Amino acid sequence: MTARLRIAIQKSGRLSTESQQLLKSCGVKFSVNEQRLIAHADNMPVDILRVRDDDIPGLVMDGVVDLGIVGENVLEEEQLERDCLGNASDVVKLRQLDFGACRLSLAVPTEFVYGDASSLEGLRIATSYPNLLRRFMQNKGISYQDCQLKGSVEVAPRAGLADGICDLVSTGATLEANGLYETEVIFRSMACIIQSTTPQSDTKQALINKILSRVNGVIRARESKYILLHAPTETLEQIVALLPGAENPTVLPLNDETNRVAIHAVSTEDLFWDTMEELTALGASSILVMPIEKMMG
Ligand code: ATP
Ligand code: MG
Repeated sequence: MTARLRIAIQKSGRLSTESQQLLKSCGVKFSVNEQRLIAHADNMPVDILRVRDDDIPGLVMDGVVDLGIVGENVLEEEQLERDCLGNASDVVKLRQLDFGACRLSLAVPTEFVYGDASSLEGLRIATSYPNLLRRFMQNKGISYQDCQLKGSVEVAPRAGLADGICDLVSTGATLEANGLYETEVIFRSMACIIQSTTPQSDTKQALINKILSRVNGVIRARESKYILLHAPTETLEQIVALLPGAENPTVLPLNDETNRVAIHAVSTEDLFWDTMEELTALGASSILVMPIEKMMG
């Protein structure tokens, strides 16, 4: 195998911009040419492969690429498919990422009277996720008929192809536009980063570890805020208690002020307007909430 680390990401679709952005935030410098399958990073031995998201789990499982960024829904579906065929699905999920949130749900036409999943007994369900659907229905002991579609699942009931669907939802707007409503969530998903279980050379594994540690740092930074404020010493404790997830803030003296101090804190959550208002009510001033670009250690 090549000495360069290969990472598969979605070529174009809901995960592509954020996948590229994440790698760039990790210091992988590359630029994509729309016509090209591969983008070579120029500052690290890394190649980015841009493919259909459905192909990513398989490429990683077969050891064709070393890492992949894909939705957990697509990963789980492919693993079930391979289990079903008795093929090995050698893959490890290194970590969940902070984008690509969606859910795989059952939905039926507005006029359908739905009690629970058993309302679908014997009916036909259209889906692009036959294995996830089968697992859910088998666990509930419900039999149904398959209608496997790669796309346009949401129009299947209106077209008379199926009685209900099992499809990805994020806001529900597409369902509504097609006269459907969501009845049951069968799988919740985020994007994730996966690695094949095939042992790597030490140098490649070291590079994977380095990228993963940077991914952790980028995501921690995105989830955190740097907060600076001035506070009266007498309400210091109450003010610190209000800062979300800021355990050990730095307290610094202010020039020419004996009863006010400066607080610097890293908060693991965003600081909402309500909290800012409570802080000012306690005498805090000069409150600054800033994004953090990178975090380590
Ligand atoms: P490709 O051409 O790569 O096969 P696609 O049409 O299968 O693209 P997209 O619609 O771009 O895929 O979705 C990619 C992934 O984004 C999904 O598998 C899922 O993990 C995630 N996702 C997030 N929100 C949604 C949503 N509302 N609908 C569909 N997928 C979503
Ligand atoms: Mg796809």
